[in-house]
Amino acid sequence: MEILHSISDVKKYVKRFKSEGLTIGLVPTMGYLHEGHKSLIEKASSENDRVIVSDFVNPIQFGPNEDLDVYPRDLEHDAKLSESAGASILFNPEPSEMYFDDAVTFVNSSEITDVLCGARRPGHFRGVCTVVTKLFNIACPDKAYFGEKDAQQLAVIKRMVRDLNFDIEIVGCPIIREEDGLAKSSRNTYLSPEERKAATVLSRSLNNAREILKTGERDADKIIKAITLDIEKEPLAKIDYVEVVDSLSLKSVSKIEKSVLIPIAVYIGKIRLIDNFTFNI
Ligand code: AMP
Repeated sequence: MEILHSISDVKKYVKRFKSEGLTIGLVPTMGYLHEGHKSLIEKASSENDRVIVSDFVNPIQFGPNEDLDVYPRDLEHDAKLSESAGASILFNPEPSEMYFDDAVTFVNSSEITDVLCGARRPGHFRGVCTVVTKLFNIACPDKAYFGEKDAQQLAVIKRMVRDLNFDIEIVGCPIIREEDGLAKSSRNTYLSPEERKAATVLSRSLNNAREILKTGERDADKIIKAITLDIEKEPLAKIDYVEVVDSLSLKSVSKIEKSVLIPIAVYIGKIRLIDNFTFNI
Protein backbone atom coordinates (compact mmCIF):
# COMPACT_ATOMS: atom_id res chain seq x y z
CA MET A 1 0.00 0.00 0.00
CA GLU A 2 1.21 3.50 -0.87
CA ILE A 3 0.71 6.51 1.41
CA LEU A 4 0.30 9.53 -0.85
CA HIS A 5 0.01 13.19 0.11
CA SER A 6 -0.42 14.91 -3.24
CA ILE A 7 -3.35 14.98 -5.61
CA SER A 8 -1.08 14.58 -8.63
CA ASP A 9 0.44 11.37 -7.22
CA VAL A 10 -3.03 9.86 -6.66
CA LYS A 11 -4.03 10.86 -10.20
CA LYS A 12 -0.94 9.11 -11.62
CA TYR A 13 -1.97 5.85 -9.93
CA VAL A 14 -5.59 6.30 -10.99
CA LYS A 15 -4.51 6.80 -14.60
CA ARG A 16 -2.46 3.63 -14.44
CA PHE A 17 -5.28 1.61 -12.84
CA LYS A 18 -7.71 2.81 -15.50
CA SER A 19 -5.31 2.04 -18.35
CA GLU A 20 -5.01 -1.51 -16.98
CA GLY A 21 -8.81 -1.81 -16.91
CA LEU A 22 -8.92 -2.08 -13.11
CA THR A 23 -11.93 -0.98 -11.06
CA ILE A 24 -11.48 1.51 -8.22
CA GLY A 25 -13.35 1.71 -4.91
CA LEU A 26 -13.12 4.89 -2.80
CA VAL A 27 -13.58 5.07 0.96
CA PRO A 28 -13.63 8.69 2.20
CA THR A 29 -12.70 9.05 5.89
CA MET A 30 -11.40 11.59 8.36
CA GLY A 31 -8.92 9.07 9.76
CA TYR A 32 -8.46 7.69 13.28
CA LEU A 33 -9.78 4.52 11.74
CA HIS A 34 -11.72 1.86 13.65
CA GLU A 35 -13.67 -1.31 12.86
CA GLY A 36 -16.46 0.74 11.27
CA HIS A 37 -14.08 2.21 8.70
CA LYS A 38 -12.43 -1.20 8.31
CA SER A 39 -15.73 -2.78 7.30
CA LEU A 40 -16.09 -0.18 4.51
CA ILE A 41 -12.53 -0.79 3.26
CA GLU A 42 -13.03 -4.57 3.36
CA LYS A 43 -16.27 -4.30 1.41
CA ALA A 44 -14.60 -2.01 -1.12
CA SER A 45 -11.70 -4.50 -1.44
CA SER A 46 -14.10 -7.36 -2.06
CA GLU A 47 -15.86 -5.46 -4.85
CA ASN A 48 -13.02 -3.58 -6.61
CA ASP A 49 -9.55 -4.30 -8.02
CA ARG A 50 -8.01 -1.31 -6.20
CA VAL A 51 -9.15 0.65 -3.14
CA ILE A 52 -8.27 4.24 -2.33
CA VAL A 53 -8.88 5.34 1.26
CA SER A 54 -8.81 9.08 1.87
CA ASP A 55 -7.67 10.13 5.32
CA PHE A 56 -8.39 13.84 5.59
CA VAL A 57 -9.83 15.89 8.44
CA ASN A 58 -11.80 18.21 6.19
CA PRO A 59 -11.67 21.68 7.79
CA ILE A 60 -14.56 23.14 5.79
CA GLN A 61 -17.11 20.71 7.24
CA PHE A 62 -16.44 21.86 10.82
CA GLY A 63 -18.28 24.81 12.38
CA PRO A 64 -16.36 27.53 14.28
CA ASN A 65 -17.12 25.98 17.69
CA GLU A 66 -16.60 22.37 16.69
CA ASP A 67 -13.71 19.99 17.33
CA LEU A 68 -11.46 20.55 14.28
CA ASP A 69 -8.38 21.41 16.34
CA VAL A 70 -8.66 18.43 18.67
CA TYR A 71 -9.99 15.85 16.19
CA PRO A 72 -7.93 12.68 16.88
CA ARG A 73 -5.27 11.66 14.34
CA ASP A 74 -2.97 8.64 13.98
CA LEU A 75 -1.64 8.11 10.47
CA GLU A 76 0.56 5.14 11.39
CA HIS A 77 -2.39 3.23 12.85
CA ASP A 78 -4.60 4.25 9.89
CA ALA A 79 -1.99 2.93 7.44
CA LYS A 80 -1.79 -0.45 9.20
CA LEU A 81 -5.56 -0.81 9.37
CA SER A 82 -6.11 0.26 5.74
CA GLU A 83 -3.43 -2.08 4.44
CA SER A 84 -4.75 -5.03 6.45
CA ALA A 85 -8.25 -4.34 5.07
CA GLY A 86 -6.95 -4.43 1.49
CA ALA A 87 -6.41 -0.79 0.50
CA SER A 88 -3.94 0.03 -2.28
CA ILE A 89 -3.59 3.75 -1.55
CA LEU A 90 -4.00 5.83 1.58
CA PHE A 91 -4.45 9.45 0.50
CA ASN A 92 -3.52 11.85 3.31
CA PRO A 93 -3.35 15.42 1.97
CA GLU A 94 -2.75 18.63 3.88
CA PRO A 95 -5.65 21.13 3.79
CA SER A 96 -3.46 23.38 1.59
CA GLU A 97 -3.22 20.54 -0.94
CA MET A 98 -6.99 20.16 -1.07
CA TYR A 99 -8.10 23.80 -1.04
CA PHE A 100 -6.92 26.89 -2.91
CA ASP A 101 -6.89 29.89 -0.57
CA ASP A 102 -9.01 31.78 -3.09
CA ALA A 103 -11.41 28.95 -4.01
CA VAL A 104 -14.86 30.27 -4.95
CA THR A 105 -16.59 27.06 -6.04
CA PHE A 106 -18.39 24.83 -3.55
CA VAL A 107 -21.07 22.16 -3.78
CA ASN A 108 -24.31 22.97 -2.02
CA SER A 109 -27.50 21.02 -1.64
CA SER A 110 -30.81 22.18 -0.19
CA GLU A 111 -33.89 20.77 1.58
CA ILE A 112 -32.30 17.42 2.44
CA THR A 113 -29.51 19.36 4.21
CA ASP A 114 -31.88 21.79 5.97
CA VAL A 115 -33.00 19.17 8.50
CA LEU A 116 -31.46 16.97 11.23
CA CYS A 117 -27.67 17.52 11.52
CA GLY A 118 -27.74 19.97 8.60
CA ALA A 119 -30.07 22.30 10.52
CA ARG A 120 -27.80 22.23 13.57
CA ARG A 121 -24.44 22.36 11.80
CA PRO A 122 -24.68 25.20 9.26
CA GLY A 123 -22.24 24.71 6.38
CA HIS A 124 -21.43 21.13 7.38
CA PHE A 125 -22.91 19.44 4.30
CA ARG A 126 -21.55 22.12 1.98
CA GLY A 127 -18.14 21.04 3.28
CA VAL A 128 -18.98 17.35 2.93
CA CYS A 129 -20.42 17.64 -0.61
CA THR A 130 -17.48 19.77 -1.73
CA VAL A 131 -14.78 17.46 -0.39
CA VAL A 132 -16.55 14.33 -1.65
CA THR A 133 -16.91 15.88 -5.11
CA LYS A 134 -13.20 16.73 -5.12
CA LEU A 135 -12.33 13.18 -3.99
CA PHE A 136 -14.55 11.77 -6.74
CA ASN A 137 -12.66 13.89 -9.30
CA ILE A 138 -9.27 12.88 -7.88
CA ALA A 139 -9.89 9.14 -7.41
CA CYS A 140 -12.37 8.55 -10.29
CA PRO A 141 -13.94 5.61 -8.45
CA ASP A 142 -16.42 3.12 -9.88
CA LYS A 143 -17.93 2.75 -6.41
CA ALA A 144 -17.71 4.80 -3.22
CA TYR A 145 -18.49 3.48 0.27
CA PHE A 146 -20.25 5.36 3.07
CA GLY A 147 -21.50 4.21 6.48
CA GLU A 148 -25.15 4.11 7.46
CA LYS A 149 -23.96 5.51 10.80
CA ASP A 150 -23.99 8.94 9.10
CA ALA A 151 -27.40 8.34 7.58
CA GLN A 152 -28.02 11.93 6.49
CA GLN A 153 -24.59 12.10 4.85
CA LEU A 154 -25.35 8.89 2.92
CA ALA A 155 -28.72 10.25 1.76
CA VAL A 156 -27.16 13.61 0.77
CA ILE A 157 -24.34 11.97 -1.21
CA LYS A 158 -26.75 9.61 -3.00
CA ARG A 159 -28.88 12.60 -4.00
CA MET A 160 -25.84 14.62 -5.09
CA VAL A 161 -24.62 11.75 -7.29
CA ARG A 162 -28.05 11.48 -8.87
CA ASP A 163 -28.58 15.23 -9.31
CA LEU A 164 -25.12 15.92 -10.73
CA ASN A 165 -24.88 12.75 -12.87
CA PHE A 166 -21.77 11.29 -11.29
CA ASP A 167 -21.14 7.88 -12.82
CA ILE A 168 -20.39 6.36 -9.42
CA GLU A 169 -22.28 3.74 -7.44
CA ILE A 170 -22.77 4.75 -3.82
CA VAL A 171 -22.67 1.77 -1.46
CA GLY A 172 -24.15 2.13 2.04
CA CYS A 173 -22.59 -0.08 4.73
CA PRO A 174 -24.17 -1.21 8.03
CA ILE A 175 -23.30 0.38 11.38
CA ILE A 176 -20.53 -1.41 13.27
CA ARG A 177 -21.06 -1.31 17.03
CA GLU A 178 -19.18 -1.95 20.26
CA GLU A 179 -20.27 -5.04 22.20
CA ASP A 180 -22.60 -2.97 24.36
CA GLY A 181 -24.32 -1.45 21.30
CA LEU A 182 -22.58 1.95 21.06
CA ALA A 183 -21.95 2.79 17.40
CA LYS A 184 -18.20 2.93 16.79
CA SER A 185 -16.97 6.48 16.23
CA SER A 186 -13.64 8.30 16.30
CA ARG A 187 -15.33 10.75 18.67
CA ASN A 188 -16.01 8.02 21.28
CA THR A 189 -12.41 8.55 22.44
CA TYR A 190 -13.50 11.92 23.86
CA LEU A 191 -15.83 10.19 26.37
CA SER A 192 -14.81 9.79 30.02
CA PRO A 193 -15.42 6.29 31.49
CA GLU A 194 -18.65 7.54 33.08
CA GLU A 195 -19.83 9.15 29.83
CA ARG A 196 -18.86 6.03 27.88
CA LYS A 197 -21.30 4.01 30.02
CA ALA A 198 -24.00 6.64 29.64
CA ALA A 199 -23.56 6.65 25.86
CA THR A 200 -25.16 3.20 25.57
CA VAL A 201 -28.48 4.99 26.05
CA LEU A 202 -28.50 5.89 22.32
CA SER A 203 -28.58 2.34 20.97
CA ARG A 204 -30.72 1.14 23.87
CA SER A 205 -33.42 3.71 23.18
CA LEU A 206 -33.39 2.83 19.47
CA ASN A 207 -33.62 -0.90 20.20
CA ASN A 208 -36.66 -0.27 22.40
CA ALA A 209 -38.24 1.82 19.64
CA ARG A 210 -37.65 -0.99 17.14
CA GLU A 211 -39.45 -3.42 19.48
CA ILE A 212 -42.41 -1.02 19.76
CA LEU A 213 -42.56 -0.73 15.95
CA LYS A 214 -42.56 -4.52 15.71
CA THR A 215 -45.74 -4.62 17.82
CA GLY A 216 -47.46 -2.62 15.06
CA GLU A 217 -47.25 0.93 16.42
CA ARG A 218 -47.27 3.35 13.45
CA ASP A 219 -47.65 6.73 15.16
CA ALA A 220 -44.32 8.58 14.78
CA ASP A 221 -45.00 10.82 17.79
CA LYS A 222 -45.36 7.77 20.04
CA ILE A 223 -42.02 6.42 18.80
CA ILE A 224 -40.35 9.79 19.36
CA LYS A 225 -41.87 9.98 22.85
CA ALA A 226 -40.65 6.48 23.80
CA ILE A 227 -37.08 7.28 22.67
CA THR A 228 -37.18 10.66 24.42
CA LEU A 229 -38.33 9.11 27.71
CA ASP A 230 -35.56 6.51 27.57
CA ILE A 231 -32.88 9.12 26.92
CA GLU A 232 -34.20 11.46 29.60
CA LYS A 233 -33.65 8.70 32.18
CA GLU A 234 -29.88 9.09 31.63
CA PRO A 235 -28.66 12.11 33.65
CA LEU A 236 -25.56 12.74 31.47
CA ALA A 237 -27.58 12.77 28.23
CA LYS A 238 -29.19 15.78 26.56
CA ILE A 239 -31.26 15.36 23.39
CA ASP A 240 -30.32 17.37 20.32
CA TYR A 241 -32.95 15.71 18.14
CA VAL A 242 -35.09 12.59 17.89
CA GLU A 243 -37.01 12.27 14.63
CA VAL A 244 -38.89 9.92 12.34
CA VAL A 245 -38.28 10.81 8.68
CA ASP A 246 -38.81 9.43 5.21
CA SER A 247 -35.62 7.50 4.42
CA LEU A 248 -35.11 9.11 1.00
CA SER A 249 -36.28 12.73 1.40
CA LEU A 250 -35.54 12.96 5.16
CA LYS A 251 -38.85 14.82 5.56
CA SER A 252 -40.71 14.25 8.85
CA VAL A 253 -43.50 11.71 8.78
CA SER A 254 -46.35 11.44 11.26
CA LYS A 255 -47.81 8.08 10.21
CA ILE A 256 -45.31 5.34 9.45
CA GLU A 257 -46.46 3.76 6.19
CA LYS A 258 -43.23 3.01 4.34
CA SER A 259 -39.51 2.81 4.99
CA VAL A 260 -38.52 5.36 7.64
CA LEU A 261 -35.25 6.47 9.16
CA ILE A 262 -35.19 7.09 12.90
CA PRO A 263 -32.16 9.28 13.58
CA ILE A 264 -31.10 10.72 16.92
CA ALA A 265 -28.40 13.13 18.07
CA VAL A 266 -27.61 13.25 21.77
CA TYR A 267 -25.06 15.13 23.83
CA ILE A 268 -23.31 12.98 26.40
CA GLY A 269 -21.71 15.69 28.48
CA LYS A 270 -20.17 17.94 25.82
CA ILE A 271 -19.81 15.19 23.20
CA ARG A 272 -22.44 15.01 20.49
CA LEU A 273 -23.16 11.46 19.31
CA ILE A 274 -25.48 10.24 16.55
CA ASP A 275 -27.18 6.94 15.87
CA ASN A 276 -30.12 5.68 13.82
CA PHE A 277 -31.94 2.73 12.38
CA THR A 278 -34.10 2.22 9.33
CA PHE A 279 -37.47 0.53 9.73
CA ASN A 280 -38.85 -1.14 6.61
CA ILE A 281 -42.50 -2.11 6.44
P1 AMP B 1 -15.55 9.57 9.39
O1 AMP B 1 -14.09 9.24 9.44
O2 AMP B 1 -16.19 9.64 10.74
O3 AMP B 1 -15.85 10.74 8.51
O4 AMP B 1 -16.26 8.31 8.70
C1 AMP B 1 -15.85 7.86 7.44
C2 AMP B 1 -16.87 6.87 6.93
O5 AMP B 1 -16.95 5.77 7.83
C3 AMP B 1 -18.28 7.47 6.82
O6 AMP B 1 -18.90 7.00 5.65
C4 AMP B 1 -18.93 6.93 8.06
O7 AMP B 1 -20.35 6.81 7.94
C5 AMP B 1 -18.30 5.56 8.18
N1 AMP B 1 -18.41 5.07 9.57
C6 AMP B 1 -18.01 5.72 10.69
N2 AMP B 1 -18.33 4.99 11.79
C7 AMP B 1 -18.94 3.88 11.34
C8 AMP B 1 -19.51 2.74 11.97
N3 AMP B 1 -19.52 2.59 13.31
N4 AMP B 1 -20.05 1.77 11.20
C9 AMP B 1 -20.06 1.89 9.84
N5 AMP B 1 -19.55 2.94 9.19
C10 AMP B 1 -18.99 3.93 9.92
